[in-house]
Amino acid sequence: MARIFCIANQKGGVGKTTTTVNLAAGLALVGQRVLVVDLDPQGNATMGSGVDKRQLTLSVYDVLLESAGIEEAKSRSEKGGYDILGANRELAGAEVELVELERRNERLRTAIKPVADLYDFVLIDCPPSLSLLTLNGLCSAHGVIVPMQCEYFALEGLSDLVNTIKQVHANLNKDLQIIGLLRVMFDPRITLQQQVSDQLKAHFGDKVFNSVIPRNVRLAEAPSYGQPGVVFDPQSKGAQAFIEFAREMVERVQAVAV
Ligand code: ADP
Ligand code: MG
Repeated sequence: MARIFCIANQKGGVGKTTTTVNLAAGLALVGQRVLVVDLDPQGNATMGSGVDKRQLTLSVYDVLLESAGIEEAKSRSEKGGYDILGANRELAGAEVELVELERRNERLRTAIKPVADLYDFVLIDCPPSLSLLTLNGLCSAHGVIVPMQCEYFALEGLSDLVNTIKQVHANLNKDLQIIGLLRVMFDPRITLQQQVSDQLKAHFGDKVFNSVIPRNVRLAEAPSYGQPGVVFDPQSKGAQAFIEFAREMVERVQAVAV
């Protein structure tokens, strides 16, 4: 049975998609079977996995509206070594259409069930909002991975997300928990980032992942080549950090399973 994780943070541009595709590629590299679900109408995880969002015949939109199953709607990231349920602008419409429908929070959870045995990990790339799409992600998952930059307002934004996760845990999905906070785009030369990082550890203890993702231009360049940075330049500091993070995730999952 796959372990299912949302990569979520309601702020845009904090590194959710970069984390999703590179963790997926890193997990694939260490032998894990991975499905990425792109839940953002921008389709960045889709494009960054080398799948053209404009060419999708079926996407996560069809899955949420139950006109297709994941098995038939998924694509393959050949470079990344994982499967991906792609998204494009059509998904923005699903948000509106779902409001009218029954079981609107549970559509993705229901869709993942029949394919859960085919994977070790399912990673869900959430949009930058606490919307119905994100709610579908949170209702499907065992845990949430929160990428964050160590900036002054980082902790403030976190409380909304933590509250939402608590509410989903209480009302909709008892399995859900915060797996960890991942420090991304980290620059140790900046004193403020060190300070915020220390605050995070003081507040959240072992909920802060040991792995730290540095700011690294190779990670930012990779999507324009339709590849995760882990594959585009495996020797780069950013890629190495994500491979390390993939190992940490495997260890955490195994520790829980015992
Ligand atoms: P989100 O999905 O949260 O909106 P992205 O993953 O798309 O965020 O990242 C926002 C921007 O920052 C992108 O241009 C991405 O390439 C860049 N970026 C993300 N992580 C890093 C990093 N560790 N080093 C350098 N650039 C990064
Ligand atoms: Mg994104």
